[in-house]
Amino acid sequence: MWHEGKIWPEASRVRVFMLVPGVEVPHLCVQCHDYPCVKACPSEALSISPETEAVIVDREKCTACGLCIEACPGDVPYIHPAEKYAVICDLCGGDPQCVKACSEGGWDALKLLKKSENYTYKVYAKTPEEITREVAVQLYGEVGEEVV
Ligand code: SF4
Ligand code: SF4
Repeated sequence: MWHEGKIWPEASRVRVFMLVPGVEVPHLCVQCHDYPCVKACPSEALSISPETEAVIVDREKCTACGLCIEACPGDVPYIHPAEKYAVICDLCGGDPQCVKACSEGGWDALKLLKKSENYTYKVYAKTPEEITREVAVQLYGEVGEEVV
């Protein structure tokens, strides 16, 4: 809502996939320390915000070539459904609205933490299929495993 002015799941910076009935998983940029998406862009449409360290997309420069999607270990960027530019979470300029909404709703499941230089966030860059599998295994156990 914050970026698009309306509820529009297909254009959300935090997308939710349900590839398996009952297993809904969020999918978003994890702010990789080495930014493979930025390095892969041939049009210099991606940059790193000096303030927030989030990836910033220059809509004018983006040609929707998709190379940043291929470079991202989690296939996180996607092409905007109406305007043909890459969409990546920009941390709402340093005040992520998802964190606010979660807190205001009383769930308090999200927190904004300062980025650590000693940690590789890239390990969390996963495809919806990978995340779904991990969550499904947590919920239901491995395939063939007896679920009690
Ligand atoms: S889709 Fe846009 S941002 Fe992504 S690599 Fe191509 S030009 Fe760069
Ligand atoms: S998760 Fe993907 S989109 Fe986000 S910084 Fe890493 S490579 Fe770029």
